[in-house]
Amino acid sequence: MDKVVYYMRVLIIGGVAAGTKVAAKLKRENYSCDVTILSKSKEISYAGCGLPYYVGNVISDRSQLIVNTPESFSALTGVSVLTEVEVTKVNPAEKTVDAVSLKTKEPLKYEYDKLVIASGAEAIKPGIDGVNLKNVFVMRTPDDADALRSTVESGEIKRAVIVGGGYHSRQQSTLSHILSTFY
Ligand SMILES: Cc1cc2nc3c(=O)[nH]c(=O)nc-3n(C[C@H](O)[C@H](O)[C@H](O)COP(=O)(O)OP(=O)(O)OC[C@H]3O[C@@H](n4cnc5c(N)ncnc54)[C@H](O)[C@@H]3O)c2cc1C
Repeated sequence: MDKVVYYMRVLIIGGVAAGTKVAAKLKRENYSCDVTILSKSKEISYAGCGLPYYVGNVISDRSQLIVNTPESFSALTGVSVLTEVEVTKVNPAEKTVDAVSLKTKEPLKYEYDKLVIASGAEAIKPGIDGVNLKNVFVMRTPDDADALRSTVESGEIKRAVIVGGGYHSRQQSTLSHILSTFY
């Protein structure tokens, strides 16, 4: 009788800093492990800390924000990367997740032995009047940075207000790089 070889299947939701690091480490520790990243974004592994510099044109090219594309990460590590796939439900009893393809709207299901949730965070839009008006931006992803940068470059904006005084907002370099593009 043929010997049945069993490979542990690890599914990772999210493919930016946490997801890609877990995936690469797992493959380094045990290459035969079957590791798959599911990401609702088109891009994985981008440098969030570079976004303000991209908006301020200190980093001129968007591709410089991307540490690895899904293809290059996959070739480098042996991890399968499926982008534009949003996980909608975790079914722990049957060890599966339900998902949907954001490209085709097709419902999908993936099995796992171990699940890693590295779905990160999203920018919070406070429920205040006008928050969804044109020229109100959040700053979290390369797409957010693109939206802000193209509006800045259109010359439409002369003054900016930054709401929030946390660590990122207070980064002097961040503020000066952004503001220098307005004046
Ligand atoms: C402007 C800015 C500046 C920063 N500067 C610095 C800095 O100088 N130094 C520093 O150390 N850090 C910095 N950070 C923080 C750093 O970028 C984050 O800590 C890091 O991105 C967090 O990575 P993560 O993998 O935990 O989550 P995230 O980056 O949030 O990634 C989560 C991923 O999971 C995906 N996802 C979420 N839900 C689902 C789902 N249901 N199905 C499938 N996929 C899903 C998302 O689309 C996303 O791609 C900065 C961040 C920003 C926004």
